[in-house]
Amino acid sequence: GQCVAVCPTGALSEVDNTRKVIAALVDPAKTVVVQTAPAVRAALGEEFGMEPGTLVTGKMVSALKKLGFDKVFDTDFAADLTIMEEGTELLDRLNKHLTGDKNVKLPILTSCCPGWVNFFESNFPDMLDVPSTAKSPQQMFGAIAKTYLADKMGIKREDMVVVSIMPCLAKKYEASRPEFAVNGNPDVDLSIDTRELAQMIKGANINFMELTDEAFDNPMGESTGAGVIFANTGGVIEAAVRTAYEVHTKKKLEKVEFEALRGFEGIRSAEVDFDGLPLKIGIAHGLGNARKLLEDVQAGKSQYHAIEIMACPGGCIGGGGQPYHHGHSSILKKRASAIYREDAGKAIRKSHENPFIIKLYKEFLGEPGSKLAHQLLHTQYFDKKKKVEIKND
Ligand code: SF4
Repeated sequence: GQCVAVCPTGALSEVDNTRKVIAALVDPAKTVVVQTAPAVRAALGEEFGMEPGTLVTGKMVSALKKLGFDKVFDTDFAADLTIMEEGTELLDRLNKHLTGDKNVKLPILTSCCPGWVNFFESNFPDMLDVPSTAKSPQQMFGAIAKTYLADKMGIKREDMVVVSIMPCLAKKYEASRPEFAVNGNPDVDLSIDTRELAQMIKGANINFMELTDEAFDNPMGESTGAGVIFANTGGVIEAAVRTAYEVHTKKKLEKVEFEALRGFEGIRSAEVDFDGLPLKIGIAHGLGNARKLLEDVQAGKSQYHAIEIMACPGGCIGGGGQPYHHGHSSILKKRASAIYREDAGKAIRKSHENPFIIKLYKEFLGEPGSKLAHQLLHTQYFDKKKKVEIKND
């Protein structure tokens, strides 16, 4: 299919879930909640003839409400949650490393890109303990929606359908991984991509250009600028640094933008001063670049404490489910600036300051890294060279 040319993640066929989404929307027995990934809002407008780099967050929310979703939430909320868990894991490994614990694995690798997870499970099965165990934002969202949120809404897990709008084809496969289900009921039921959402909007005769902006619902619609920048290469690690810096140094971070982590070079290196401790960070986008960094880690030659890897060019803004960019990096750069603009416009820009995240820990999860947080928000990796059998509990 077309995907082979546009999707570098190894997802060979594009699964069309839009019919199943429509069936859920018209089923009166189901409560259908939707989450939208950060990259979608920076590209969806292109499907309606808007200039690349136009942010359509409010129109997108409005369109989803018109399509009949019961609640419209934001994957960016779950991106903030990812930072809480992954940032804690980074600091925990770092502190052990600094006190001379030889068993601790550094660098830590980000784990929110399923194209990349699939890649290391198949190509580096001897290194399954190196990546962070934190689930991706899509999967954290599903796990919290079907426990905490379902309880709050007074509905049963089986009666909730979680739909995700992703820039990504590999997210469909991620949602179907058996370990992300409870008794066969998946945390994320259906994942569709940006182009498919545009088709649904057109198919429903919604005049996208005329829509007035609407706001996400709460409690899972509130996010910080740190959650937004997950869409860009370098963004996940920048978001992690904003939180990890304050937790580690106990000092306020005055400037939240880390220009050294931004850009489009395939492999980038930066050093961030953690109050005297130079934290060494590596960033790669594109799997060929990722392989180079990974081979260094495998050979014990890596100089980094933390590495961010995204399979697609530019990160998720360049995902295989986004409007076609036909290799024009100028389009990707415009989408990336739109994302940084959305971050700059946010009142709160550090994940640990998101009031709904604070509430979620207080009411439900306890502390980052707690037993319940581990049960719901962390995962494990499998040697994909062997046949994998997973039993659900
Ligand atoms: Fe999906 Fe983003 Fe990874 Fe591309 S970079 S495979 S869009 S998660």
